Amino acid sequence: MLKAFLFDMDGVLFDSMPHHAEAWYQVMGEHYGFACDRTFFYQVEGSTGQQVIDDFFVEQRGRHAEPWEIEMIYKEKSQAFVQLGPAKPMIGAAEVLHKVGEKGLTRVLVTGSGQPSLINKLNYVYPNVFDWSRIVSAKDCPIGHGKPMPDPYLMGLVKAGRLKPSEAIVVENAPLGVQAGHAAGIFTVAVNTGPLDPKVLRDAGAEIVLTGMSELAERLDEVIQMQQHFKH
Ligand code: CA
Repeated sequence: MLKAFLFDMDGVLFDSMPHHAEAWYQVMGEHYGFACDRTFFYQVEGSTGQQVIDDFFVEQRGRHAEPWEIEMIYKEKSQAFVQLGPAKPMIGAAEVLHKVGEKGLTRVLVTGSGQPSLINKLNYVYPNVFDWSRIVSAKDCPIGHGKPMPDPYLMGLVKAGRLKPSEAIVVENAPLGVQAGHAAGIFTVAVNTGPLDPKVLRDAGAEIVLTGMSELAERLDEVIQMQQHFKH
């Protein structure tokens, strides 16, 4: 029986991906001289910041990043992100959270983000929905264990009350996040809020691809029906 929804944050609850891509580009490309463009950061969306930085070092400098380098660069990226101004709430997200809550289902946030301001921002835009006991963030996911690995969503099941994969639905917007939900054995809904071809999300393992959170709000009962008939 369905007991919880596990929500990704960027690109699902907040329309924040354009700001993330810009902030990453300013820091990795313009400041530190790594070869990249803004679009690249949509492809790795869902990875933790530490993982993104370490991958750049391995691929372009031939070594892993030192922990202090990761800390310094990630701090700079977070500052650049904040300077771009607050990201808007995703249209339809408040309605989805409300409807899910009304059905008595648990709402858990599962994000690769490690922004210290995350909880304040969440509480400001979506008051009384999430607290730390219902959040899986970058600090729960060491390098190599973030999305697309199933670990963050498996941890989400634990935080939702030690649930089985068949008792939850994942809502994701990025291929790596969809892969993570799918690998955890959870019915995964993709909301295609960015520039990607919907096929990319279907190929990553999404059971259904919707145009956004407004469509999920409208078709919530149908999606829940699909999950009930899904063979886990
Ligand atoms: Ca996302």
